[in-house]
Amino acid sequence: MNMLDIIAKKRDGGALNGDEIAWFVDAVAKDRVPDYQTAALLMAIVIRGMTHDETVGLTLAMAHSGQILDLTDDIGYAVDKHSSGGVGDKTTLVVLPLVAACGVKVAKMSGRGLGLTGGTLDKLEAIRGFNVNLSESEFRRIARETGLVLAGQSGDLAPADGKLYALRDVTGTVQSIPLIVSSIMSKKIAAGAKGIVLDVKMGSGAFMKTLEDAQTLARTMVEIGAMAGRDMIATVSDMNQPLGAMVGHALEIRETIETLLGGGPADFRDHCMSIAAHMLWLAGQGKKWTDEAATLAELKAVLQSGAAFRKFREMVRVQGGDVNMVDYPAKLPTASIVEVIRATQTGYVAGVSAEGIARAAFALGAGRVKKGEPIDFAVGVEVHVKVGESVQVGQSLLTLYANDAEKLVAGMAEAGQSVTFSSIPVPKLPHTYETLKARAK
Ligand code: URA
Repeated sequence: MNMLDIIAKKRDGGALNGDEIAWFVDAVAKDRVPDYQTAALLMAIVIRGMTHDETVGLTLAMAHSGQILDLTDDIGYAVDKHSSGGVGDKTTLVVLPLVAACGVKVAKMSGRGLGLTGGTLDKLEAIRGFNVNLSESEFRRIARETGLVLAGQSGDLAPADGKLYALRDVTGTVQSIPLIVSSIMSKKIAAGAKGIVLDVKMGSGAFMKTLEDAQTLARTMVEIGAMAGRDMIATVSDMNQPLGAMVGHALEIRETIETLLGGGPADFRDHCMSIAAHMLWLAGQGKKWTDEAATLAELKAVLQSGAAFRKFREMVRVQGGDVNMVDYPAKLPTASIVEVIRATQTGYVAGVSAEGIARAAFALGAGRVKKGEPIDFAVGVEVHVKVGESVQVGQSLLTLYANDAEKLVAGMAEAGQSVTFSSIPVPKLPHTYETLKARAK
């Protein structure tokens, strides 16, 4: 078997068999194939797609490309969540402490930014000293002792995904249902989760631009997860406009802290409570947290009591982060230039393009163009309006935070196009479109 034949077969629209997929995944995991050939195959998959059997084969081969963790001895029934990637999506940072504060131990491995979407690890690193590189024994110990740990994917877990993920980010090969399914599900299966909540995003700021594609992504992941013996929930939610107000690493940590203290933007807070309620439903195993309204009331109380915030603070302390930045968010990295874009007309907000805002944040320096590039934690965009709201001429729409005047100009050009108006009232965007559930088979 060789890589050229595999690339050519997929380029010509063929379906790869189990042996070919296993050979490719093994070769990637062991660095036996150069990046340019891997990238060529990834692009062929983006263009030609994969059958259901190929997607299942790729997911399982990637999951088994390294070790499969079992966290049962450390935290019991392990419940995990994963977002398919969005703009301003800091959900994990709120949901994990929230669930942990309800008494469910959580140990999660997160990723870095991909394409225009932000990554939880990058956001956490805006907190000085926060260590996302934990050994397996540290990860397990912290999970056991504090009931909350959030780290990067260990190199031994789904190593094929680690390599493909970084390469896809810089080769325009993210947007593909089979590649996203295999990336997310291989990691979740390998990371030892027994129950998994998938937060599938749909819209301009998501990899899935249409509801149909997002539903296909959600359904395929739920099917594969249940087949692999996991209890699954997937929700499809809106990503046409950014989630919450802040887009950018340190800015999103500020919003996380506000939300953990019971404030924060309503759309973001409600989304976090809904994902947390799904995690508790799984963790409760039919004995606890079965009544959604009661669960949401409990989550609200946990936020308002400060228990979720204290859990977050403890996680930062235990993982070496500067808790001063949590106690005094003004100490987080801040940008030197602040520019406000104001409404030039009175009317209703018809759109706040999540993609446009992400492009603006990217232009300001919040994302990576090349593998492993450093990012600017301080820069980003604050969005002051939501679709459907009425605005007056002169009202603030967006605030851009920059550290470089040239990048600010590029960011302004992207951001300027992002907010659109209507002279007649515009309905608010729906938030959740669908929720799927499946028990382990
Ligand atoms: N999140 C992942 O982990 N992988 C993808 O491919 C997309 C989102």
